[in-house]
Amino acid sequence: MAHQLYLEKEKYRQWVKAGLGLGYLKEGLVPFCDDVAKQQHKDILDNIKQTNNLPNVTCGQCTLRTLQPDHLKIANNKCPLGQTNCNCCYTSGKIACPNNVCGFIYDNIITNHASTQPAPYWKNTRTQQWTGDPWSIAKCFINAPGYDQKTSAADTDCTGLLHVIINNKYFHNHIQCNLAGANVFSKVRQYRNEIFHSSTMELEQADANTYIDDMIAVLQDGKELINRKDAQDAVKKLEELKNEDFIVTTENMERVLRDIREEMGNLRKLTEGLATKDACEDLKRKLSALEFPMSQQSEVYAS
Ligand SMILES: [Zn+2]
Ligand SMILES: [Zn+2]
Repeated sequence: MAHQLYLEKEKYRQWVKAGLGLGYLKEGLVPFCDDVAKQQHKDILDNIKQTNNLPNVTCGQCTLRTLQPDHLKIANNKCPLGQTNCNCCYTSGKIACPNNVCGFIYDNIITNHASTQPAPYWKNTRTQQWTGDPWSIAKCFINAPGYDQKTSAADTDCTGLLHVIINNKYFHNHIQCNLAGANVFSKVRQYRNEIFHSSTMELEQADANTYIDDMIAVLQDGKELINRKDAQDAVKKLEELKNEDFIVTTENMERVLRDIREEMGNLRKLTEGLATKDACEDLKRKLSALEFPMSQQSEVYAS
């Protein structure tokens, strides 16, 4: 029985390790994502200045629902950029940007979306912020709800950051890894679900170490990340996690729980807007899976 308890605690320790790893991965990615998002934003605005011959680029008056894109639909009510439900296909009630800016940005976001059928996640963004806030454009590439209130890379979880890198062609120029097929960035993107949705709070050591090694591989991408100080610091912390003598402290446990709580908050917000009963039930199940480890927490410390 004592041995059994030891094994349970060992798997729990591995789970905490992996959870902490996600936090370090995020730390290593934030400054890179911020910088590239700012460059992309600046490039887009410079491009508009030149193309439309404008002294400065600013708006804030357009809304996504009524915005008329710069591109025009083609025959059979089809979007030439391949977006389904594109604003170009619904001409009635659409208004061109009075400043000659937002239609261009709308087009640019679609063209930069990496999916074969480009599908920017418009619900995450507000057009009114496009000219002033680089992250409002980056967020369109996060193919998941719950990021509408996030205002920076630091404010975004590592899954969201990986979405921005994987789904945004502009970012691909700053990454050596080929993001089109199976790749380590996409693999790591799945880990958050696998770790945080584990209702047992347990992980085998081999799995935990695989997760951490893949996180390191992301941070050591050969194009730019490998040369960045923040990514290097995060790699050091990830390497330390793999040491045998890593112990679960109240401090690092708190950190993992904080991340889970944040995720639970996002899920709660989501259930309010859900239409179908099935989707609602599914989310409730996920929520209770997350709540279970939280309530177990005090017991683990007591033992
Ligand atoms: Zn279109
Ligand atoms: Zn506008």
